[in-house]
Amino acid sequence: KPQLMKGKRGLVMGVANTRSIAWGIAQACADAGAELAFTYQGEALKKRVEPLADKLGAFVAGHCDVTDADSIDTVFANIEKEWGKLDFVVHCVAYSDKEELTGRYVDTSAENFAQSMFISCYSFTAIAQRAEKLMTDGGSMLTLTYYGAEKVMPHYNVMGVAKSALETSVRYMAEDLGKQNIRVNAISAGPIKTLAASGIGDFRYILKWNEYNSPLRRTVTIDEVGDSAVYFLSDYSRGVTGEIHHVDSGYHCVGMKAVDAPDI
Ligand code: NAD
Repeated sequence: KPQLMKGKRGLVMGVANTRSIAWGIAQACADAGAELAFTYQGEALKKRVEPLADKLGAFVAGHCDVTDADSIDTVFANIEKEWGKLDFVVHCVAYSDKEELTGRYVDTSAENFAQSMFISCYSFTAIAQRAEKLMTDGGSMLTLTYYGAEKVMPHYNVMGVAKSALETSVRYMAEDLGKQNIRVNAISAGPIKTLAASGIGDFRYILKWNEYNSPLRRTVTIDEVGDSAVYFLSDYSRGVTGEIHHVDSGYHCVGMKAVDAPDI
């Protein structure tokens, strides 16, 4: 692969296993010549993340639960000690109580609303605050969103509201950080079977619907999201910021069911 990211060092957050979108992005970045750091959420994931980091020669910057500001600070202190500076950050973190990813949005509890918004939206801002200080030569920040931010999708509920806020935060941070040549973008990925996605009601149906009705007539893979991420994290997108880029087999552009779509 072309070494588009040679000499760049970046933090990838959100690897849980080999199905994670963060893992697809990490592999693509490593293939493109980047040096990587990973975080893991809690001891259970440490055992999974460490061997994956080894595979890519990545350094493990430590435990990070985004609801614990001290853990974020420790990770960034470790990165500063190891590298001194940072060129990119990938934020693949989201959470909502599974109970509320089914049924009606209108029934969302105040507690889960606040928690989902904090973990799935605010955490990107919290990470950006720390990353900005280490991006002394400019940088690129990338987060992951979903079409449920733009249109109503079955069961996506509070996560759709949180992703809308996340997408808006991408635009505000693009303006805030642009003067320092720090770019902020999001990839809006089509549905992919991951641990987080398995919490969404009727996810298999959603996958099939996308496969039958997107222009490419298939769903996307974590490798495809990874290759698009390389564009955003490398200098090839140096003129691009505040962008929400769909990697979804084109699903976002269709207006109705495909005429050749079979029944599900
Ligand atoms: P995943 O389960 O592999 O990754 C989710 C990650 O979030 C995990 O690594 C988990 O540890 C982390 N996380 C959750 N709460 C956290 C917390 N409090 N602190 C730190 N980390 C925390 O699933 P994924 O589908 O790869 O999700 C990655 C991102 O992609 C999410 O933002 C998700 O919304 C987004 N996305 C997923 C899809 C899809 O269909 N899978 C589509 C579009 C966007």
